Amino acid sequence: MSFEYAPAPESRAVVDIKPSYGLFINGESTDGTGTAFKTINPATEEVLAEVAEASDADVDEAVKAARRAYTRVWSRMSGAERAKYLYRIARIIQERGRELAVLESIDNGKPIKESRDVDVPIVAAHFFYYAGWADKLEYSGYGSTPLGVAGQVIPWNFPLLMLAWKIAPALACGNTVVLKPAETTPLTALLFAEICQQADLPPGVVNIVTGAGDTGRAIVSHPDVDKVAFTGSTEVGKAIARAVAGTDKKVTLELGGKAANIVFDDAPIDQAVEGIVNGIFFNQGHVCCAGSRLLVQESIADDLLERLKRRMSTLRMGDPLDKNTDIGAINSGEQLMRIRELSQVGDAEGAERWEVACDLPTKGFWFPPTIFTGVSQAHRIAREEIFGPVLSVLTFRTPSEAIEKANNTPFGLSAGVWTDKGSRILSMANRLRAGVVWANTFNKFDPTSPFGGYKESGYGREGGRHGLEAYLKGADA
Ligand code: NDP
Repeated sequence: MSFEYAPAPESRAVVDIKPSYGLFINGESTDGTGTAFKTINPATEEVLAEVAEASDADVDEAVKAARRAYTRVWSRMSGAERAKYLYRIARIIQERGRELAVLESIDNGKPIKESRDVDVPIVAAHFFYYAGWADKLEYSGYGSTPLGVAGQVIPWNFPLLMLAWKIAPALACGNTVVLKPAETTPLTALLFAEICQQADLPPGVVNIVTGAGDTGRAIVSHPDVDKVAFTGSTEVGKAIARAVAGTDKKVTLELGGKAANIVFDDAPIDQAVEGIVNGIFFNQGHVCCAGSRLLVQESIADDLLERLKRRMSTLRMGDPLDKNTDIGAINSGEQLMRIRELSQVGDAEGAERWEVACDLPTKGFWFPPTIFTGVSQAHRIAREEIFGPVLSVLTFRTPSEAIEKANNTPFGLSAGVWTDKGSRILSMANRLRAGVVWANTFNKFDPTSPFGGYKESGYGREGGRHGLEAYLKGADA
């Protein structure tokens, strides 16, 4: 049974959303030469602000500013000096953590307990971690020579966290950046621009250009960009790989996933249920490494599914700013449509849908936590990224069958293993073709730990010492 909780909304008063925002180029906000677009609150469909859409000419200005800052200031500064700025940014992020968390939840739709307890603390941790590397690059194994100007394009599922994953290592290594946040979630990146000003970061070291796909394309194809870092869909990732082929640009791509979360019959079952819930319903399932395919050993499948449904019935869905909310809003109408369509394909292909019975708010974009059973490997819902709160359940009998099914995917970003046996964890981890394998846990992130994929999940690593490689010329440079 679920308990009734009184509403406990976080105050919006802590953030000051302006009616309109410009681009952040060379340390200043500028109107740009393009048009503007609106960003909305996906939980209410309320228009939050108008945001400038960067044209090719604006992107060119931003790249020029980044190049100037690179040659005149940032690449000449000692690592220890650069670290001071990164530490300062990290501390301001902590000080303004509540403001950042509330704004993230308003613009993205994610529950405040996640933006407050997961996103923002890891964002600060990322800046602290890479600040520590800035004066130790010669020990990184990748040399200490920066690449130059980094063009970075990020998605809407973790707007501030993806910004941190991109900007912190780039700056620590001595590069300057031009970053484009996703069209539906530009506001925390623009607040981050304010934080750069507050930290007295030299103008042009960080430039934020808002816009849609065309702005992203202009960054990626700009001839004076030395490095491209992208997180998003496999489709756009492939287009980017094509666009930079034959150039000297260094590229890292972090794309989609269809992770297997594998539960053996000796697993601590209630703990596994929590891990399954966290694996697929965290951030409404808008997670590239989400545990979207549950592989459960046949002998415990009925028991596990019953417990899972019971646990899912206690999840609270609704106002993202309410501190008791577990599941927030889907980020956009477009994404909601995509989730609905793929779920309907699941129905049509003969899988059995079960969803939490709950009243959905009348405004905004919502999708209830859902599981599909009777899923076979050929089903599209077992192969394609749904990127929503939808779990496909498959069963297996032996460890080898689990491995075969888990690896039977074009992706290879993450996986989870639940078992009591340490030896089994190690043997599974060795055989799973996934960049990250979690054991008896799921969706845990730490700045010291590298993250990235195999196959269509992309290439390059972000985080940890490995994350420095993407922003340095190499040991022999
Ligand atoms: P996209 O890959 O389109 O968006 C990611 C970023 O790339 C956004 O900033 C986007 O701008 C930008 N972009 C779009 N087209 C281009 C281009 N041609 N060149 C350069 N940059 C470009 O993802 P969507 O938001 O369209 O989501 C579609 C699907 O992708 C989801 O359903 C999900 O399956 C997957 N996805 C995976 C993510 C991951 O972390 N692996 C993250 C987000 C989505 P804009 O925001 O304006 O479109």
